[in-house]
Amino acid sequence: MEKITVIVPCYNEQEALHYYYEEMSRVMNEMKEVGFELLFINDGSKDKTLEVIKELASKDERVKYISFSRNFGKESAMYAGFENSTGDYVCLMDADLQDPPRLLPEMFKAIKEEGYDSAATRRVTRKGEPPIRSFFARMFYKIMNKISDTELMDGARDYRLMTRQFVNSLLEMKEYNRFSKGLFGWVGYQTKWIEFENVERVAGETKWSFWKLLLYAIDGVVAFSTAPLAIASVVGMLMLLVAFIFIIFIIVRTLIFNDPTSGWPSLVCIITLIGGIQIFCVGIVGEYLSKIYLETKNRPVYIVKEDNLK
Ligand code: UDP
Ligand code: MG
Repeated sequence: MEKITVIVPCYNEQEALHYYYEEMSRVMNEMKEVGFELLFINDGSKDKTLEVIKELASKDERVKYISFSRNFGKESAMYAGFENSTGDYVCLMDADLQDPPRLLPEMFKAIKEEGYDSAATRRVTRKGEPPIRSFFARMFYKIMNKISDTELMDGARDYRLMTRQFVNSLLEMKEYNRFSKGLFGWVGYQTKWIEFENVERVAGETKWSFWKLLLYAIDGVVAFSTAPLAIASVVGMLMLLVAFIFIIFIIVRTLIFNDPTSGWPSLVCIITLIGGIQIFCVGIVGEYLSKIYLETKNRPVYIVKEDNLK
């Protein structure tokens, strides 16, 4: 019988896990045509998450887990899941039930019967989310799709079911700075999009502060576009052009109209403006440089402390 590996990244999810397992069991019982493996990735949780997973594993032999030596982030957890998955199909799902397991039969059908390579989900509403966060999220997708060749779907979740071939392609990308939303699109293949209404998490708290999301967005831009570097060059050239025109203007005014000095306010404005633009552009270059630095170190994406894989 074919098997689906369900990868569940968990960071401080002790409350949510029971609900998750209950709900997931129901779906697994429904889907009799395929076998399951639940691969929990404990991403350095500080609460009793690992104990809860072990308890589940002792009751259900389909439950497998990998426990990291510290918190490495969801991207690392997903990668560890892909590397250690053994199923013919691989599914990625959050532990907080914001990715409804009830969609799984429909996703499986899309791959099995309709011939897609992957079935992904996107939420069409952002109910229960602070409006300011939704606004910036929308902006991010708009800008990203303008400046990058890889298409990002607005509202796309990481929740998706993939064929083995799709996952193997993802594993080919061994980069350290992982931005999965982009990688999913980059590998290509045929993806079916399944839409659903946003669900709020069942228990616990979100791990994403506004600040973390902003840094994640910058990571995404740096990983999938070099447009900011080009923009920096263009801004530099424009400033140069303006400076030339201004210099000629001052020379002409001094020589012809005999009006050599006036106004330090304009001087201060120009110095601060150009200073600001310079630092901003150096910052952009720095973002790319720091990513190159991290990639060249070639550190592992995650470190496993314990697991029950074999
Ligand atoms: N997660 C993780 N490592 C982290 C942060 C989050 O494995 O450092 C997991 C978390 O346990 C959950 C999923 O990633 O299963 C999504 O996290 P969360 O619900 O906090 O994000 P949100 O749904 O609010 O975007
Ligand atoms: Mg969540």
